[in-house]
Amino acid sequence: MLIAHDLDEPCPRCGVAGKYGNVNIDRNILRRGCNHCRQWTRYSLPEVRKKIIYLDQFFLSHAFRAQEKPFVDAAHRIEDMAARQLIVCPYSSVHTKETHLWRHEQQENLFKFIKQTARGHKFSDDFEIKRLQLQRAFAAFRTNGDVIQLVDESEVFAGEIHSWDDYFWLDMRPILGNIEAMRQGKTDAIATLVTLFPDWAQLTTSYEEDMEIEAEGYGRSLIDQYLEMWSKLARGNLMAYMDAPIDVMYVESLMHYDEDTMQMDERLARIADFFVSPHFKMIPHLRISCGIFAMLRRRVKEGAYTNQNTARKKLSGLFYDSNCISIFGPYCDAIFVDKVMKQWCDFPQARVLAPYRTQIFSVLDWDGFHGYLDQIEENYTDEMRDAITLAYPDYEPMNEPGN
Ligand SMILES: [Zn+2]
Repeated sequence: MLIAHDLDEPCPRCGVAGKYGNVNIDRNILRRGCNHCRQWTRYSLPEVRKKIIYLDQFFLSHAFRAQEKPFVDAAHRIEDMAARQLIVCPYSSVHTKETHLWRHEQQENLFKFIKQTARGHKFSDDFEIKRLQLQRAFAAFRTNGDVIQLVDESEVFAGEIHSWDDYFWLDMRPILGNIEAMRQGKTDAIATLVTLFPDWAQLTTSYEEDMEIEAEGYGRSLIDQYLEMWSKLARGNLMAYMDAPIDVMYVESLMHYDEDTMQMDERLARIADFFVSPHFKMIPHLRISCGIFAMLRRRVKEGAYTNQNTARKKLSGLFYDSNCISIFGPYCDAIFVDKVMKQWCDFPQARVLAPYRTQIFSVLDWDGFHGYLDQIEENYTDEMRDAITLAYPDYEPMNEPGN
């Protein structure tokens, strides 16, 4: 058997030293084994309920560069608390994409750092989470079910997130797609967005109306992209399906419902109705991102972002920030995000993460963030402390500040 951690103590069964140690942890069962007598011992560890914290790319890249003390201190604390099974900071497909868009020789080391901070825990792909929420809303729309959709963290992690970390985790190779195209897409999306600002500045719509406009615009773009793919296919472009933007897959997935009993045009018309329904507008990720973009519209109306060059730079991370907040935020206990994003999310009319009780932190409030971590520390019992020593013999407590 492979012993992950050799122990100094002799095997309690055969008494031989140097062949006994921790083998693995499965959920909350620690297994120790002896390579001399081949006996196993099982230890039951206390149940854990970790706080799930999303650290955005900005936080992680600053922690990785280790040049600014507040980031270094917070990152050390996070590493220590994650080692003690109090918190977990899973990484996401948004981290993977953003890291690989970064043109830097340290790119792979940053990615390694992000995975280490997460101790291998990872969210499902952003596309999968969006599709799941969309399909659930569509199912409710078809049956006149609930408009409000509950989210459950068990649906976005591959394994049990509230279990003791094993010694080894599977490091999966990321599926990246075309990085150059993604870079270009990011630049183009912001450039296009900024050209809308002069028109937005003239509008007198309310925040709530802007949210509606954003949601309807998204629904329309999904239908348009789907129809465009079909018109290309009809003109004989056989690659149209393969080349279509990933958004097309959302409509495609809804077209499969009632395939046997409804004609294609009926199904498409029903999807178009769904896209203007409350069921659609209340999809968790969509409602949050519409709230964020309605805040952007509000800022533009107030006279912000008038210089298009500056606006492009300032908003370069907007789509990624909005994705991480809207897609992963509802599944987290806390998120650490860009300071402007935090201001927008906290705006009284927006309060986009309030229904999920997700706490939002940014660099503007390090004390608040540490205060939040202090509260979590209160759950660290003596029983947990003893179990940590048992499970992770190499664990060394972090120096308390001031010691
Ligand atoms: Zn033994």
